[in-house]
Amino acid sequence: MRNRKPDEILRRLLDAGFAAYYVGGCVRDTLLGRPVHDWDIATSARPGQVTALFSHCVPTGVQHGTVTVLLGDDRRAEVTSFRRETGYRDGRHPDRVQFVTDLSSDLARRDFTVNAMAMDLDGAITDLFDGRADLARGVIRCVGSPERRFGEDALRMLRAYRFCAQLGFWMDAETGRAIAACAPLCARLSRERVCEETEKTLVSPKPEYVSRMAELGLLCTCGVTHCVDLSRLAALDAAPEVRWTAWKVLQPALDLKAFRLPARLCQQAGRVCATWQPQRDTLSWKRLIAAEGWDAAHLAARVAQSGAVDEIAASGACVTLPQLAVSGRDFPQLSGRAVGDMLQALLQHVLEHPQDNTRETLLKLAK
Ligand code: ATP
Ligand code: MG
Repeated sequence: MRNRKPDEILRRLLDAGFAAYYVGGCVRDTLLGRPVHDWDIATSARPGQVTALFSHCVPTGVQHGTVTVLLGDDRRAEVTSFRRETGYRDGRHPDRVQFVTDLSSDLARRDFTVNAMAMDLDGAITDLFDGRADLARGVIRCVGSPERRFGEDALRMLRAYRFCAQLGFWMDAETGRAIAACAPLCARLSRERVCEETEKTLVSPKPEYVSRMAELGLLCTCGVTHCVDLSRLAALDAAPEVRWTAWKVLQPALDLKAFRLPARLCQQAGRVCATWQPQRDTLSWKRLIAAEGWDAAHLAARVAQSGAVDEIAASGACVTLPQLAVSGRDFPQLSGRAVGDMLQALLQHVLEHPQDNTRETLLKLAK
C-alpha cells in the first residue's frame, strides 16, 4: 500500500534535528479528504544528510534536492530539501536552485495556494497564502503575482486548468486573466510536459477543460489551437488510451504523435478513428475484430461504451483466422496470395454464418 502515510520518515528527520513537513498535493488532498497517491516531504536537511539517515534511497533529482526514501513496506516519500528558485530565463527551469533553511521560502516557490501548505507530524497546517480558504471556496489561485509566476514557468498555466478539472474548482479571476495574457509563453514548453498535463486533464472528471486550454493557445507546442467540446468524454473509462482515442474520434484531424504519445497508441487510435461507426450491430463488431485485431476492437468498444467485443470473445465465436476450422495447409493446390484470399473469404462467410465453421463445410464452400 504505497499511499499509506510514511510518518516514520518524517519522525526520523525530526529526531535527527531537522525540520520536516508534508507539503504540496498530499496536504491538499488530505484536507479535501481525497485519497493521497504521493507523499512529498520538505526538510531542512540537505540531500546528503537525507541519504545518510535512510538505508533505502533513490537519488531521484539530487540537483534539485530530491531523494526518494523507501520504507521496507512499500511506503515511500519524495524528500526534498527546502529550496528557493531564481532565474527562470528560459521560462521553464530555474537558473539556480538555492537550498534554504526556512519553510516559508519553500512554500512561496510553489504554484498555487492550495498546493503551498505544509502539515507536520501532528497534522498542524502551515498556511501562509490562504490556501485553506481557497480550498473551501474551491478556487485555484497563484501564489504571488500570476504574471510573474507564469513568466517563470509557463507550465503552471496548464497546471491551473488541470487542477480545476481534477478538483472541480474554479479559476480565480486574476489568475485566469493572467493566463489569457501569458498564454503565448506556452510556445516554449516541451511537448512531454504539455502531454502530461493534457493527459491528467483528459482523464479527469472535467475533460472539457482540455478544450479551454487548446482555445487559449496553451497546447500550441503540440499543434493544437482549437478543440471540439470534450465534455462527453467524462462518461467514458478514465483510462488514458480511451480518452485520447475518444478525442481523436471526435476530432479526426488531431495529431496524437505531436503529444509524443507511444507509437502504438497513436496507431490504434488512428485505426479506431478511421473505422469509426456511431452504431454497430454484432456482425459489424465481428468484422471490426477480423479486420483490425482484438486490441483495436477492444479500444473501439470502450470508446463506444459497448460490451459487444467482450461478449464476442466470451462466446468463442470464430472472428480471426487462427480460429477458422481450416488453414493454409488445407489448400495445397493454391499458392501465395491465393491462400490468404481464400482464408479471408471463408472467414468473412463464417462471421455471418458461425455454424459453418467446420472443416467439412468450409472445404465444400471453398470448391
Ligand atoms: P498530483 O501529484 O496529485 O498530480 P501535486 O500537487 O502533488 O498533484 P506535483 O506535480 O506532484 O503535483 O507537484 C508536487 C508539488 O510541487 C505541488 O503541489 C506544488 O507545490 C509543487 N510544484 C509542482 N510543479 C510546480 C511548478 N511547475 N511550479 C511551482 N510549484 C510546483
Ligand atoms: Mg504529486
